[in-house]
Amino acid sequence: MAKPAQRQRLRTTLSIIAVCLFPIVFYYMSPYLIIMGATEGLIAGDALFFAGLFLTSLVTGRAFCGWLCPAGATQELCSRVNSRQFNGGKRNLIKYLIWVPWMAIVVLMFLHAGGVKGISPLYQTWNGISVQNLPSLIMFAAIAGSIALFALVAGKRAACHTICWMAPFMIAGTKIKVALGLPSLHLTADKTRCIGCKQCTSNCPMSLNVTEMVQKGDMANSECILCATCVDICPQNAIQFTLGRSKQTP
Ligand code: SF4
Ligand code: SF4
Repeated sequence: MAKPAQRQRLRTTLSIIAVCLFPIVFYYMSPYLIIMGATEGLIAGDALFFAGLFLTSLVTGRAFCGWLCPAGATQELCSRVNSRQFNGGKRNLIKYLIWVPWMAIVVLMFLHAGGVKGISPLYQTWNGISVQNLPSLIMFAAIAGSIALFALVAGKRAACHTICWMAPFMIAGTKIKVALGLPSLHLTADKTRCIGCKQCTSNCPMSLNVTEMVQKGDMANSECILCATCVDICPQNAIQFTLGRSKQTP
């Protein structure tokens, strides 16, 4: 098991690599290419990626968001400028209001195209690279810039809470893994060790009230991205990163 400082150094390193790779992988996370592909009856690379996110979340929950997502990493770098908490509350529901009609459009486009006709993993990319010309560069700059600006203005990982179209895939996977009791990565807490210092809460990149979660003995939260910041910052080792069956409610 990695030591706390090493683990968070690794997370920072992976975040920097993810941001550097963002222009290359951008199309694999696109909410638009899946629709374009569907109009031709093609399963594009982003559709395969979203399916992969769902499947991996059955074991790793939303760890992708905390460790590998370029958009999440971009926002986390922005939090070094504005570290204000973003308490999502009801605004967390916006992403579902985006996700449901978006998925409905994808299904309708496939039906209109006469069903699935093929798989195109590199759809609309140049040899697998997303940003390949001026229009794709402008689109990338607009979207990545908007995500960064949102975090800079609204607070920590504001886009993850509200507009991320990928999060619902992983939240669905997380709920299924907990409901089925699948062995998976999750947090556990020993509230008897907690001294209420609130360091976990003030450092959570998703602005969760981790102290309250610890004291209630329920660490399951659909906004948790399993970044392990709370685990590594707790002076009492009250929170643990565990691989196994979760006993918590979904
Ligand atoms: S950091 Fe640890 S001791 Fe402090 S409030 Fe959180 S769980 Fe409790
Ligand atoms: S609760 Fe802990 S693991 Fe989950 S997002 Fe917050 S700091 Fe990361």
